[in-house]
Amino acid sequence: MSRFSLQGRTALVTGGARGCGLAFAQGLAEAGANVTIFDMVEPEAQFHAIEKTCGVRTAYYKVDVSSESSLAAGFQQFQADFNNALDICVPCAGINRHLPFLEFTYEAHQSLLSVNVVGLYFTAQLAARQMIANGTKHGSIVLVASMASHIAVRSQLCSAYCGSKAAVRGMCPAIAKELAEYNIRVNSISPGYVRTEMTASVGDWFPRSTSALTDQFPHLLEGWKSETMNGRIAEPEDIMGACVFLASDANQMKRKLEKVELNDSIMAPGADHEGFVDDGAVDASTTVVIAGAGPSGLMLACNLVRFGIDVTILDDRPDKTSTGKADGIQPKTIETLKQLRLADPLLRHAARVYDIAFWESTPDQPLRRTGRQTHYPDHLVGASDPYIVLAHQGMLEDVFIDDIESRGVSVLRNSSFVSCARVSGGRGLVVSYDDLDSKSTKKIRADYLVGCDGARSMVRTFIPDAPLEGEMTNASWGVLDGVIDTDFPDLWSKVAVRSHEGGSILWIPRERNMTRLYVELSATDGERVEKSKATPEYVIQRARQAMHPFRLEWKNIEWFGNYVVGQRVAKHFADPALQVFIAGDAGHCHSALAAQGANTSMHDSFNLAWKINLVSRGLASPALLSTYEEERRKIARDLINFDAGHCQAFAQGEAALAKNFNDNIRFISGVGAEYSSGTLTMSSLEPSTATLRPGALMLPARVTRYIDANPVDIQLDIPMLGQFRLYLFAPDLKASLPFLSTLCQQLDAASSLGRVALQADTSYQNKPRGQSEADAFAQHQRYTPVSQILTYALVTQSPQSAFEVADLPEALQKSRWTLYLDGGDTPHCTVKWMDRLGENEAGVVIVRPDGYVGAVHNWGVEEGQGAAKWVDGYFKGFLVD
Ligand SMILES: Cc1cc2nc3c(=O)[nH]c(=O)nc-3n(C[C@H](O)[C@H](O)[C@H](O)COP(=O)(O)OP(=O)(O)OC[C@H]3O[C@@H](n4cnc5c(N)ncnc54)[C@H](O)[C@@H]3O)c2cc1C
Repeated sequence: MSRFSLQGRTALVTGGARGCGLAFAQGLAEAGANVTIFDMVEPEAQFHAIEKTCGVRTAYYKVDVSSESSLAAGFQQFQADFNNALDICVPCAGINRHLPFLEFTYEAHQSLLSVNVVGLYFTAQLAARQMIANGTKHGSIVLVASMASHIAVRSQLCSAYCGSKAAVRGMCPAIAKELAEYNIRVNSISPGYVRTEMTASVGDWFPRSTSALTDQFPHLLEGWKSETMNGRIAEPEDIMGACVFLASDANQMKRKLEKVELNDSIMAPGADHEGFVDDGAVDASTTVVIAGAGPSGLMLACNLVRFGIDVTILDDRPDKTSTGKADGIQPKTIETLKQLRLADPLLRHAARVYDIAFWESTPDQPLRRTGRQTHYPDHLVGASDPYIVLAHQGMLEDVFIDDIESRGVSVLRNSSFVSCARVSGGRGLVVSYDDLDSKSTKKIRADYLVGCDGARSMVRTFIPDAPLEGEMTNASWGVLDGVIDTDFPDLWSKVAVRSHEGGSILWIPRERNMTRLYVELSATDGERVEKSKATPEYVIQRARQAMHPFRLEWKNIEWFGNYVVGQRVAKHFADPALQVFIAGDAGHCHSALAAQGANTSMHDSFNLAWKINLVSRGLASPALLSTYEEERRKIARDLINFDAGHCQAFAQGEAALAKNFNDNIRFISGVGAEYSSGTLTMSSLEPSTATLRPGALMLPARVTRYIDANPVDIQLDIPMLGQFRLYLFAPDLKASLPFLSTLCQQLDAASSLGRVALQADTSYQNKPRGQSEADAFAQHQRYTPVSQILTYALVTQSPQSAFEVADLPEALQKSRWTLYLDGGDTPHCTVKWMDRLGENEAGVVIVRPDGYVGAVHNWGVEEGQGAAKWVDGYFKGFLVD
């Protein structure tokens, strides 16, 4: 419930002296907000009591919202008194004129509109300006409409009033759309009959007080009661909760849709279709629609939400994966989850596999162990977490879901992607999906659509010429997850069994004392086993046959599945306009044996997320998005080639399998998934001594942080914020200072990188990264003190005592959290990354936002200018200048 808290926020309620406005003010204060009211009349005593009872600050300003000058003066005074703070605005001031339609005058109508429509509109506008200026991350505007915008109020004269409240509802989605880019949520609320303590208003205005009203017209109360389903009218407490909800972060969970659904209205084309779709009304708008909330969709959502990009994530299932499916998380993915600070919950609960044992039976020899080896030997893989983490797919999904929910976004369940159309004459898309709960089709306007909707992807069909290419094989496998009772000795290792009678089996230890068995039902070139035959009983019987003479019983079976192996890759991963993409199983499918699918799927979307962020912010050219297909389709093809060999080796026995393992172990771990040279992976200049290679990952290394002497893993230390990193290696700091100074100076505002950095600052100010409470511990601003697009880091072998932060160029002084001392660990990071660097040399490594090396080179210390030009040249290839 902490997301309902408004502690420390500042709210403004117009018309807050009495009635509904006072109820809203009271509710906001009870939730912890400081509350200011604008009203024409002195507030009730109840308002003055709020300060004491709720322990918040309150203020009242006499303001007539229908007067431009009065409203402006009110805001000016409020800003001065509250140091420009404002997070929540509830424009509630409204009046009615109790006049028959046939007798309404121009003057009466205009004065009503000037309060209810124009006054409300400009209150919202001034509030929004103030929120943008103060950079609040919790901006929320709750426009107060009325049930009178839906129905005529039978017992009262209200023709103009009803129209004005409908205008409030009507303007809401359009304002919401425009303010979305500033992360300000805009909703409207339509109270019905509410009993309040307000006294009569002035003149012939319709009183806003039910008590006053019912004093004057006692029959009304009974009449109103008879109009409601439950025979009662609302109390102030009944409506204040809705306002608090809309004002709070709890409402951000579904903000894209609720913004519109709560208003119960739809966006309509504007004059000359300006800014709107041609293809009819839409229900909501967002930047990226993600179809599918499996590993690839959730990884994408998690990154985009963190980067501050608006996302709507649809999934046709009612809930996350509860059991089964993927369970093996590879070393590279563990590293990525650590870089995202998301690994802990999985590592806490999952099983780990460090070794693999091989067993075989022949007609002459019973089942016996023929070998055992380390799964990810250091000399072949070099991963910092050299093991597989085993946890069912739902546990992985949970990690992402928790993270996006902590940042105010949630998956739209029971929502099945149906189609996508391009907006005529514009770059936008209209995405349609079936809301399986309400049994209606809804439309969302978006800039991008990403199909993470699995092997039978529907989104794929909206990418021209993107069929799956490759073959379905005859290999079929049954999969059983459960707690096993056995005398087989290697139950807690990964085990590959090849039996002469019962086919092959793969044993995988799992969380909660479980074991997964992959049981071969038919081989690649064998006769495919009918699906109807592949029952759990049949699979168990095959498993027992293969494991003979060991006892094999199940205490329980949590999940059973079977699948036929296909090895296929989609011909394209993106449409030519670079707006529709596919990721994960939607783009590639293969056997589950080597535990690659979910891992590769997540790295697809990890690759795509930062590119969409930069392009969508206007910081990179749209062509950057074409590197997604170039890079990830290459990995998908590498995967299929590996998988075909792996399945064959499985069938051939231990020697072939062990060789296949050794040959491909870097790739299996994920560490060996490498990109060819291209825009983002600049070929090395010659001669280069660097060990790191463009297109490959950073190598794990331990260094010591200068600022607090903490030993850290350099590849994990800088959190993933969608920014590049520039690692400067200066073995001898003093000798390298001229190099560092020239380089940093040249990359300042005058360079193209510097200019984009300035744009990036504005962009992130207007559209900040998605925040969660946990970020308070991460202190992200430590990693972007120079620019939002690039983090500077220095690695030196000079001792801490040899220099002060103040000795460094300004950019590195600001980057004090990323100054590293290299020397505590062997081999040194400098050696691991750059191999040999002489005393008069410096190394420069550009690392992309996904942790891949973009460019690397070593320079003489007098070559600072050349190095700066080289760095700037790398970024000129895709950033917008
Ligand atoms: C038995 C088995 C074991 C496996 N073991 C491993 C392993 O150990 N390691 C590994 O890395 N991989 C493994 N895999 C593969 C892995 O499960 C997949 O590669 C992975 O789930 C792909 O993730 P994804 O997000 O691309 O697709 P999915 O996980 O298939 O998710 C797609 C999502 O999209 C939703 N969806 C589909 N159509 C629509 C639509 N029209 N509208 C809205 N939503 C839609 C689906 O309901 C689903 O939630 C295994 C697979 C199987 C079958």
